[in-house]
Amino acid sequence: LNYRNTRFITSAPDIRHLPTDSGVEIAFAGRSNAGKSSALNRLTDQKSLARTSKTPGRTQLINMFEVVPGCNLIDLPGYGFAQVPLEMKKKWQKALGEYLQKRECLQGLVVLMDIRHPMKDLDQQMIHWAVESRLPVLVLLTKADKLKSGARKQQLMKTRKDALTFGGDVQVEFFSSLKGLGVDQVRAKLTEWFAP
Ligand code: GDP
Repeated sequence: LNYRNTRFITSAPDIRHLPTDSGVEIAFAGRSNAGKSSALNRLTDQKSLARTSKTPGRTQLINMFEVVPGCNLIDLPGYGFAQVPLEMKKKWQKALGEYLQKRECLQGLVVLMDIRHPMKDLDQQMIHWAVESRLPVLVLLTKADKLKSGARKQQLMKTRKDALTFGGDVQVEFFSSLKGLGVDQVRAKLTEWFAP
């Protein structure tokens, strides 16, 4: 699959307003600032497919991008902003859980985590929901360029060990949008999920 022709399809205020459950979908999730927008831009070789500067606490939209007809990427709003009211957080978590558990066309989940702070509570929650729904998960340790090789490997080993505890198909890899690290591997994984 060529990811360079990926184009924006639509934004939805929440999961219920996404286009009908059809085709094949792969979702991208992560804490705010994990590097999700940068990763989407890098994977699709586009400078501004996904916006990279956002206002903390503002209601964010779900974006849908089409790689080729029938193959879509879903950019879920970043989670974990401290400033968001508890009520909104709860509502959002409920909606995310429902999406991961009920969306039929969803074939895989990519969870992005800053390599320096992986596996926070909400990251674990996302993986848990996905595994419960038998969805394969790809964990990307982003901004891998921020650590030296030794520390980087240590974080990978530790996170892989943590990933085992979920009991599902949870793969963990490095990623750096800045250096292009892991880009080909992620594209290959997405393609595998799009066309099993
Ligand atoms: P998002 O909130 O998850 O969409 O995160 P962004 O893509 O907006 O990135 C958050 C911050 O991390 C920005 O300042 C980016 O420049 C930075 N960033 C993202 N990816 C990388 C990377 O691979 N390496 C480094 N060093 N910084 C990155």
